[in-house]
Amino acid sequence: MKITVLGCGTSSGVPALGCDCEVCRSDDPKNQRRRVSILIEQGGTRLLVDTSPDLRTQLLDAEITHLDGVLYTHAHADHLHGLDDLRSVNFNMDRAIDVWGSQATLDIVQQRFGYAFQPIGSWWSRPSLNAHILTHGTPIEIGGISVLPFDQIHGRAVTSGFRFGDVAYSTDVKELSDDSFGALKGIKLWVVDCVGFEEHPTHAHLELTLEWIARVKPERAVLTHMSHQFDYDKLRAQLPQGVEPGYDGMNLEV
Ligand SMILES: [Zn+2]
Ligand SMILES: [Zn+2]
Ligand SMILES: [Zn+2]
Repeated sequence: MKITVLGCGTSSGVPALGCDCEVCRSDDPKNQRRRVSILIEQGGTRLLVDTSPDLRTQLLDAEITHLDGVLYTHAHADHLHGLDDLRSVNFNMDRAIDVWGSQATLDIVQQRFGYAFQPIGSWWSRPSLNAHILTHGTPIEIGGISVLPFDQIHGRAVTSGFRFGDVAYSTDVKELSDDSFGALKGIKLWVVDCVGFEEHPTHAHLELTLEWIARVKPERAVLTHMSHQFDYDKLRAQLPQGVEPGYDGMNLEV
């Protein structure tokens, strides 16, 4: 299984507009973070998680013209509002795209982007998506990739974490239930929320993320949804073995 980190930045992206801190002014490409998204590939099947507002450049950089499906973690703007750029994927594939999310997530997606779920003619004047509802705790299979969605508490929202075989993705999470820790048991790679050094109302901060990693014990953990509080090199130097910050374009294999 191949995982590509398409974006690892918090909702504003890094640099943040109008900020002149050291990280926002940094020339290091690893300090330039698009909004979060990952790509999962195995045996010719390719799944995208979330459609960030940076989707167009993410698709261009990773040369993604075809997708076998899109999974939504939740409907916050930084995970959803690039949806229109799926139109170019529709155009390249000449067919509709299957998308999955919890009932609560898809309700908002369909309310906000209803036109993407309407029948369409032969010309891709707008995105065309088929919605499929996921139930947390019930695994599904998409083109040979097993997907286990699980509950994550994200302030007032519940987000979907995903386990794909030995890999799990947990963005936008502040609390995990014992059941969700159960879903993570035995994973080799965990791409996990870590917004900054300071405690945050809806996201895990460094101390909490490291506590979770110590409990789950993946072979490798990669931090995501990172704000400008983190300089890549400085953070990397202070993390325990097996834990590293993500960066846009990072390729992982399990
Ligand atoms: Zn987010
Ligand atoms: Zn800054
Ligand atoms: Zn969110």
